[in-house]
Amino acid sequence: MFIDHEYIEGLLRDAAHASKEEIQSVLDKSRAGERLTHKDVAILLQIADPEQQHQLYQIAGEIKQRIYGNRIVVFAPLYISDYCVNNCTYCGYKRDNEFVRRKLTMAEIQEEVRLLEKMGHKRLALEVGEDPVNCPIEYVLDAIDAIYGTQNENGAIRRINVNVAATTVENYQKLLEKKIGTYILFQETYHKPTYEAVHPKSLKGDYDYHTTAFDRAMEAGIEDVGGGVLFGLYDWKFEILGLMLHNEHLEERFGVGFHTISVPRIKKAAGMELSAFDHLIDDETFKKIVTIIRVAVPFTGIILSTRESAEMRRELIKQGVSQISAGSCTGVGGYKEEEMKGDSVVQFDVADHRSPLEVLKELVDDGLIPSYCTACYRSGRTGDRFMRLAKSGQIHNVCTPNALMTLMEFMLDYGDRELLEKGEACIQAEIGKIERRDIQQLLTDKLDRIRQGERDLFV
Ligand code: SAM
Repeated sequence: MFIDHEYIEGLLRDAAHASKEEIQSVLDKSRAGERLTHKDVAILLQIADPEQQHQLYQIAGEIKQRIYGNRIVVFAPLYISDYCVNNCTYCGYKRDNEFVRRKLTMAEIQEEVRLLEKMGHKRLALEVGEDPVNCPIEYVLDAIDAIYGTQNENGAIRRINVNVAATTVENYQKLLEKKIGTYILFQETYHKPTYEAVHPKSLKGDYDYHTTAFDRAMEAGIEDVGGGVLFGLYDWKFEILGLMLHNEHLEERFGVGFHTISVPRIKKAAGMELSAFDHLIDDETFKKIVTIIRVAVPFTGIILSTRESAEMRRELIKQGVSQISAGSCTGVGGYKEEEMKGDSVVQFDVADHRSPLEVLKELVDDGLIPSYCTACYRSGRTGDRFMRLAKSGQIHNVCTPNALMTLMEFMLDYGDRELLEKGEACIQAEIGKIERRDIQQLLTDKLDRIRQGERDLFV
């Protein structure tokens, strides 16, 4: 197994008493853009001095800026089934929790999608519990067809990332045929004894099968995979090294590592108390986690969900996060329920309850460009072809103009006067930074037409 526990524990033991000088030399290395070794990352995990911590945040911010610029990708989760045969100790959908389970019909899925489209969403993360009988792969495949086939005025979902439990190569091939975006699966914890303890007597409890899921997904031809750790289950230092080893294993075997890494922290959920978890992460440690991941794997996107507060999200976007969810519901049928002021059973509590429009206004205020772009995936720029683009530094000339176009589209279709005004200023500033004259011109023309009151530029 590529998550060698003894090796990780040895790295942590050796680094435990790293001196300030040793930590400084790793900080200098990452500032210079050098690739960090396992030993380097283990040393960085020991950072405690406030001044060095400040340096770490700065370096992470510089890397974020250099590679991703001001773009921030926005998406929403869509829960379609809460049937689950697993009994994960941390999860509100565990089988021991008694509530009336449901899965949406195709018509109900389309209703949810229309509501998401009305908010301006173009990217979804499709979420289901694990239940081979009530939620078989065929149901997920039909749901994907239903989602891609649902149009609401100007709205359409252009990329569906899928979070289904670890499965077979054949099932991953079926998902690939449906043109999914990233296949997402959180490891939860890389520490095998903890993994087995928090997933008692269940399908998900097979550590090796779960940990090799991306191998099967990539064997099936899926090129973009998104990992993650549920922080709070075990020692965060062990988990970060676990992420590194997993990423490297995929790089060695398939030529490309994680497309994204998610960093959920455990939240209160039905049938569990946070006090039962010994490794909960405080805010300062959480910032360290995100920034260390940023410097350790600069080209991997980092996803931050609405589990985190608006303030935490605002801060971490500057220091490494490249994708956020917005306006999220974590219950089946939750978007309709919310419209009707009802209560759906949620998987866990969220902290940022703002609508996408409100989130976008703050992003634009902060000089960031919310992006709904899905061009990479639609033009086959996935896996190592995306990584080549990222590593070449050309993201700015490709992704920034695309992001600006999607911001203009959002402003026209879903924005109000305030967003239009804020957005215009933000776009104007960004156009000035684009190197290619022809692209500058194209964007300037579009912006002028918006200013003149044209409202159908993107039909
Ligand atoms: N069936 C998939 C699976 O088991 O991997 C679905 C995953 S679930 C919809 C998405 C993620 O939410 C889980 O992988 C877990 O990390 C996270 N999650 C579950 N309970 C949570 C809680 N109480 N707080 C925060 N995140 C939680």
